Amino acid sequence: MSKPLRLFNSLTRQIEPFHPVHPHEARVYTCGPTVYNYPHIGNMRAYVFADLLGRTLSWKGYKLTHVINITDVGHLTDDADAGEDKMEKMAAERAQSIWDIAKHYTEAYWADVKALNIRQPAHWSIATDYIDDMLEFAKTIAEKHCYQLDSGLYFDVSSVADYGRLARAQTEEGEGRIEAVEGKRNAADFAIWRTTPQGEKRQMEWDSPWGRGAPGWHLECSVMSGKLLGFPFDIHTGGIDHREIHHPNEIAQNQAFCGCGSLAEPANSGAKLWMHNNFLVERSGKMSKSSGEFLRLQLLIDKGYAPLAYRMMCLQAHYRSELEFSWDGLDAALTRFKRMLIAVEALKARVEELPEAPEGGWTQDAALGEVGGALLPLLARFDEAISEDLNSPLALTVFEEVLSLKKIDPAHKLQAIAAMDAVLGLGVLSASRAALRIRPKGATATEAEIEAIMALRKEARAAKDFARSDALRDELAAKGVEVMDGDPLGWEWKLA
Ligand code: AMP
Ligand code: ZN
Repeated sequence: MSKPLRLFNSLTRQIEPFHPVHPHEARVYTCGPTVYNYPHIGNMRAYVFADLLGRTLSWKGYKLTHVINITDVGHLTDDADAGEDKMEKMAAERAQSIWDIAKHYTEAYWADVKALNIRQPAHWSIATDYIDDMLEFAKTIAEKHCYQLDSGLYFDVSSVADYGRLARAQTEEGEGRIEAVEGKRNAADFAIWRTTPQGEKRQMEWDSPWGRGAPGWHLECSVMSGKLLGFPFDIHTGGIDHREIHHPNEIAQNQAFCGCGSLAEPANSGAKLWMHNNFLVERSGKMSKSSGEFLRLQLLIDKGYAPLAYRMMCLQAHYRSELEFSWDGLDAALTRFKRMLIAVEALKARVEELPEAPEGGWTQDAALGEVGGALLPLLARFDEAISEDLNSPLALTVFEEVLSLKKIDPAHKLQAIAAMDAVLGLGVLSASRAALRIRPKGATATEAEIEAIMALRKEARAAKDFARSDALRDELAAKGVEVMDGDPLGWEWKLA
């Protein structure tokens, strides 16, 4: 009855049935953040996507092992080997140690992960913990696939089959983006070890057979994914920018390490599937950490938006579609989320106990087995939507259909909601309406004060003393509180 899972593979450019490498298991690697700055909400879209994928794999009954790395060394200001190390640059600007910078921004990233209900992966792999493994990996491939220049050990991309198959820019626009380094054999060759220039000292550097220096960014992900998941593993994820340089380079290294041939067999790339989320963009174009208002999750919170409204916004778009950020769009997502919570709260009020998740969590089999009757066809449609390349926009509409069904036992409805939310991760059973009323940073009134004035106003209105009721509304407005008479959501007030 349940649908087989089908996913879009960027390597073959088609939707394929998911067949795990190891029966009943799913092993997933997600390229994590470079912790030199706060993530912007576009970066967080990549992790909401990876989380939706992980939750879907659990729903389909696979035992999931998810790895997300933390890049604390090696990512240059240009993906293609040029510029400075992002971490060194920030540390120099701030006159701080790289370790302190990495710690601060890793923790900030983890806070966003938690706020967005992104599940904890099995491993957070931190690049600097794997330097010895990187050296071993590099030694294994050095002789056959690499050559040394003054600036480091370079990978010869002509030494593996089908280099760049994943990339689109290179086939469509040529290899223009790749910066020339004197002595490179091919324009696309890249450093797997970057030697510290003579007379300089980096904060992070290690000894190697190719001189003291630091690993290349691409090497890190090959090493951590191979070590923790074993080649070939099931799925490698990242944002679409990684299709052009980072992932083709990881693939080339994996082929070299495994002695693998043509990419006509996708598993030769080190992973059977490569999946990429499209970008969150601003109307003015690409999202950036330097221009205009830096769109961090904390900025949304400061403006009074619950972080899960942003998760809702992500789920409303298919992960392969570009998503344009706007405050109006976020408002709409928040309203939709509130409506769901109101419906769930009404259901909760009608049952004695909340449904318990089955042992091992909700899976399609548990859901389709336990939630019977009129809800069964809806659950099957939900499963069909999410199983077809993670169609979260469609899954959300089925979720709402369940909420709006009349004459269904509330306990059954809540069970179905709990099962579907295990995939969507909106936390509708635990989130409360009050928690969504976030106080914007500048707000001065306390919740208790507002509620007290609201109560007086209700009395005044009941006594038809409209002059007093208006005066109380003005008093609230002066405190930045907007009273919402006749609010269809029953919200009554919000902080403007
Ligand atoms: P970085 O920390 O720069 O390595 O980026 C972290 C993740 O965010 C990577 O998977 C990127 O591909 C992804 N990413 C970067 N910008 C955006 C964006 N505007 N929208 C969605 N994903 C993005
Ligand atoms: Zn990576």
